[in-house]
Amino acid sequence: MSEKYIGIDIGGTSGRVAEFDGLDSDEIKGRERFEVSGTYADDLERLGEAVRSLVGEESPSGIGLGVAGEHAPDGSGLLHSANLKDWGGKPLKADLEASFGCRIKLVNDAEAAAWAEAAFGDHSEDCWVITWGTGVGGGIVEFHKGEPRIVGAPEPGHVILRWDESSPRCNCGRHGCFEAYVGGGYLQKRFGKPPAELSDEELGDVTDWFARGLYDLYRAHPTARFVLGGGVAEKQAARLPEIERKTNGHLEGIGAIEIVETKHGDDAGVIGAMASLRQD
Ligand SMILES: [Zn+2]
Repeated sequence: MSEKYIGIDIGGTSGRVAEFDGLDSDEIKGRERFEVSGTYADDLERLGEAVRSLVGEESPSGIGLGVAGEHAPDGSGLLHSANLKDWGGKPLKADLEASFGCRIKLVNDAEAAAWAEAAFGDHSEDCWVITWGTGVGGGIVEFHKGEPRIVGAPEPGHVILRWDESSPRCNCGRHGCFEAYVGGGYLQKRFGKPPAELSDEELGDVTDWFARGLYDLYRAHPTARFVLGGGVAEKQAARLPEIERKTNGHLEGIGAIEIVETKHGDDAGVIGAMASLRQD
C-alpha cells in the first residue's frame, strides 16, 4: 500500500496542497493550489479537487491541514477565523474524514510552521518558532528523549507589551499586544504608510518593540534559539541581527538568544501540516 501523505496550507486567498511519500521527508512529490473564496462549501470542494488531482481516487494515509484562526480544543474545526468567517463552527475534520476516509489533523498556521522546524529544521534543543507576517504567531518546539514535540498552543502575538488604552489597538480587541506593534497588517495603521516605505528610524522603532516581545517570550519560556519566518521576517531579514542584539541587551545578566531564519520559507505551511501527523 502506498504511503501518501498530504499537507495543506490555507491562507486568506489561496490554499496550497502538497504530497509526500511519508512523514520522514520534507521532499514535496506533487503540488496543487486552489483559490479560497471564503465560502466553506465551495472551498471544501476546491480543496477536494486539488487533493484528488494528486492522489486520484486512492485514500491518502493522512492529511494535515494548517489554517489561521481559533481552533476548537478538540481539533474538530475552527471556532473563528478573521479571514474565513464562514468556516467558523463548521465540522471541518468530520467533513474531510468523510471525503477521504483517512486520518485528519488540523493545526493553526503557527503550529504548522513550528512543526516544519521541529521535524526538519536543524535543531537539537528547545526553540521558539515565530511567524512574523500580517500578525505574530508562534509555537514552542521541545525535545523529549531526542524526539521533537510542539508544546501547547501559545499566542505570542497577544502578549501585551503595554497595558494602556493609548497603545495600538489589536484585532483581538485589546490594546498594546506584541503584534499590534510589529505585525505587517498593523504597520500601515501605526505609521500611515505601507511597510515597504518605512524609514530607518521607523523600522528601528519596530525592532525595539520586537525585542521587547521576544524578551517577554524568553521570560515565559526561555529558549536559546528563536526561529523566525513569515512574510515580514523574510522582507526584513537584514533587521534580524538588530532584533537579536536588542533582545540580548534586555536579557543581559539573564540569558542570551540567537535568531535564525526558518528552513522552508513559503513551504513551511504544507510541510509542517504534514509533519503534525507525527503526533496524535
Ligand atoms: Zn491582541
